[in-house]
Amino acid sequence: MSDEHASLFATATAQFNRGADLVGLSDDLRCIMSQPKNEIIVNFPVLMDDGTYRVFRGYRIQHNNLLGPFKGGMRFSPLVNLDEVKALASWMTWKSALCDIPFGGAKGGITFNPWDHSPGELERIVRRFTHSLSTNIGPDHDIPAPDMGSNAQSMVWMMDTYANSTGASERQNVKRIVTGKTLETGGSPGREKATGQGVVFCLQHWADEVGFDLSSATVAIQGWGNVGSATGRILQVHGAKVLAVSDHAGAIGDSEGIDAFELTDWVQEHGSVKGYPKADAIDPADLWSTDVDILIPAALENQVTSENAGSIKAQVVVEAANGPTTLEAETILTERGIDILPDILVNAGGVVVSYFEWLQNRSAQRWDIDDVDFKLREILWSASDAVVAVRQELGIASRRDAAYAVALRRLEQVYQQRGIFP
Ligand code: GLU
Repeated sequence: MSDEHASLFATATAQFNRGADLVGLSDDLRCIMSQPKNEIIVNFPVLMDDGTYRVFRGYRIQHNNLLGPFKGGMRFSPLVNLDEVKALASWMTWKSALCDIPFGGAKGGITFNPWDHSPGELERIVRRFTHSLSTNIGPDHDIPAPDMGSNAQSMVWMMDTYANSTGASERQNVKRIVTGKTLETGGSPGREKATGQGVVFCLQHWADEVGFDLSSATVAIQGWGNVGSATGRILQVHGAKVLAVSDHAGAIGDSEGIDAFELTDWVQEHGSVKGYPKADAIDPADLWSTDVDILIPAALENQVTSENAGSIKAQVVVEAANGPTTLEAETILTERGIDILPDILVNAGGVVVSYFEWLQNRSAQRWDIDDVDFKLREILWSASDAVVAVRQELGIASRRDAAYAVALRRLEQVYQQRGIFP
């Protein structure tokens, strides 16, 4: 592992410091926001199918709750570690502030591979984790959501465990303890596709600004999970063509275009894009240099690096994943005139529709999908407008720095008005 991959939190901190410099954030506020408020680590035993117990490690990092309850996903992956979750938690704070929704930032997860476990083991792991977190989470305090490796079913188990651990008279009132639930259990229409939908709304805004025709665009996508596949399908509906896709097991390409809907069905059945019969197998390393207009990393962090940034042909890199671009790669892309749509803006659709789900649960309502999409677009276009305006005001090229500036100014105002107490 090169230094470039050493610490995700160091990357997040460097980004934060750039934004803080731009807005002239005071040293006090810089100190306060440069660390998470709370770092919770739980080690909890779970009964395995063979009758033995295994101890798992889970995290919940609560970065900031100035603007509202801590909010963010729960990641299930063997790679989950403290440094990673701290970075992801801070990005949630900036995301919510940038979108002007009343949430703070948090992130959590369990260090394990969900695919290695039976449904029964998985359910027991998720329920025991929820139980271990106890009152560290709460419907107006800290609200988890899905992230990599977790899904709507994981959220339903968390909600049910939490609800059944509260008093009988509270049980109906705590559904909003998690978002990203199934529709039947109180989820919101449009939450499943929300992050991908948000990516496309942000791309539309960018296309309008720079005079780009999205309807004839070509696209390469790294990752065909919830975010990558929804983005691909929605872009295809708008006329764009997906020319290459990669995931954990392989990569495929077709210069005529890959049908995003058929590919989604294939991956659902086979677990990967590998072997998809209607496209050619390609070397996953070649995804980056595919001749496309738009490159969308929608998987893990630290994927666009100094090794591949020089070969990217796309006009814009769209960070559907959290933290996919290393600092070194960002410098290379900027020097090469390649635009970057930053993660804290383009992938905020998930948490925005989580906010809608939380509001619906709070008022026992069900909004329809058109309402959800309309409101999501309003929020993301306002956030995009704010980024464009600050970029002009400060005379800077980086959309990431501008996005941080918008978020930090909002937080700074509230800190200044409320003060630091006690
Ligand atoms: N895990 C998603 C993210 O990284 C969604 C978080 C949420 O809905 O709270 O933004």
